[in-house]
Amino acid sequence: MSAGRLVVVVAARAVWQTAAGAVGKTARAPAVHSDVDEIDVVVIGAGQAGLSSAYYLRRFGYEPLVLDAADGPGGAWRHRSPTLTMDKVHGIFDLPGIRRDLNDDRSGGRDLDGERSGGRDSDGGRSGGRDSDDGRSGGRDSDGGRSGGRPAAEVVPAYYGDYERRLGLRVVRPVKVAAVARAGERLVVTADTGQWAARAVVNATGTWTRPYWPYYPGARDFRGRQSHYATYRGPAEFAGRRVVVVGGGHSAAHVLSELAGVAASTLWVTRSLPAFSDADFGEQARRAAVARVEERVRAGLVPQSVVSVTGLGHTPVVREALAKGAMERLPMFERITEYGVRWADGSSHEADTIVWATGFRSALDHLAPLRLREPGGGIKVDGTQAVREPGLQLVGYGPSASTIGANRAGRTAAENVRRFMTGGSPASTAA
Ligand SMILES: Cc1cc2nc3c(=O)[nH]c(=O)nc-3n(C[C@H](O)[C@H](O)[C@H](O)COP(=O)(O)OP(=O)(O)OC[C@H]3O[C@@H](n4cnc5c(N)ncnc54)[C@H](O)[C@@H]3O)c2cc1C
Repeated sequence: MSAGRLVVVVAARAVWQTAAGAVGKTARAPAVHSDVDEIDVVVIGAGQAGLSSAYYLRRFGYEPLVLDAADGPGGAWRHRSPTLTMDKVHGIFDLPGIRRDLNDDRSGGRDLDGERSGGRDSDGGRSGGRDSDDGRSGGRDSDGGRSGGRPAAEVVPAYYGDYERRLGLRVVRPVKVAAVARAGERLVVTADTGQWAARAVVNATGTWTRPYWPYYPGARDFRGRQSHYATYRGPAEFAGRRVVVVGGGHSAAHVLSELAGVAASTLWVTRSLPAFSDADFGEQARRAAVARVEERVRAGLVPQSVVSVTGLGHTPVVREALAKGAMERLPMFERITEYGVRWADGSSHEADTIVWATGFRSALDHLAPLRLREPGGGIKVDGTQAVREPGLQLVGYGPSASTIGANRAGRTAAENVRRFMTGGSPASTAA
């Protein structure tokens, strides 16, 4: 596979200006260096989706360069609240090829970059051979080991770090990609530390860096504190406070389950009526939900949240919040006041703190030079293939925004890259 230096400055600028017009006027246009590293495949992001893609690319004979903005392994999981323990998450699937060892919790208490090699090979030691989740088996999401009470923010990064080391993946961090632009036959990836001219790019940048914080009138007048779930680090800082929790998903349930009994009061508000789901979310229901999200991204619409298609399942945090009586829901308020929130009928509620558990959006700003956004706000994706950019795969986006979806998307993306490199047509099913 090729790796070398390529001078692309002239081609890059020409394409930039002719293809873009308007793009050329934005501040996003990266300065193209006089020479850049030439490479086959760049994977952007080293979460579940990026690592899974790297694993399958490797199996297909490519040696991808994985660029990750974080200081260490773990993707979004390294940033989650220490109170989100393994027994509270609802199913984290193993990465392909190497399983997380359920019976060994030593890694979590140690340096995440420690020496220990924790995971057991799912393929009996032949890393890179047969995979534990080949897109048909569904992987494994139980956590029957001793890690149950340990923070996911320790357990998962330790596993990912171990995975990267054992497979010898070429992950470089911290490297934040600022732009991806087409330059002739190549996609030029521009980061704070360098530039690469790739034949194909797999984008796996997740959502964690883009918390969604809806605007409500009066937000600036509020004298209390507002925070997003992205910065939630447990109930201690809310002790004795009157807290309004906004949002209808599992993160709201997580906050409510922990604040009940610690905060002076909690009030839960959601935009639409929460759809509690008793259904065992089996394979058929999962496929139906995935198909609905898939339909949206194929049409170029913004992907829906998982809860909007699956309903709010009776996960451990939901059960705990319900048992504590913390899930008496009120409709969304109309505005924020100096001292709390007010509804359209004039009723109000005093609060010291508002927690926005309102989800995340896909972190795709660096793809702006490719001009892939549709009028519907999303990027048209078929399987993992960006419809308007043959060299680009999107994994962990829309229907593949779960650990199991990310595994399968990684395989689809790698297959598509191989087909693209060898002149075939892309596969259309990711999940
Ligand atoms: C609150 C919450 C709870 C969840 N709970 C579960 C659960 O219990 N089970 C489950 O299966 N799924 C859960 N999910 C979904 C879960 O996050 C995904 O399944 C999966 O872990 C995301 O993987 P990813 O690789 O797509 O993204 P991430 O894990 O976010 O990884 C993206 C990586 O890209 C890097 N990156 C971002 N931008 C750039 C850039 N410009 N340049 C370079 N690198 C960049 C980031 O540093 C990060 O390392 C949850 C999601 C949320 C928000």
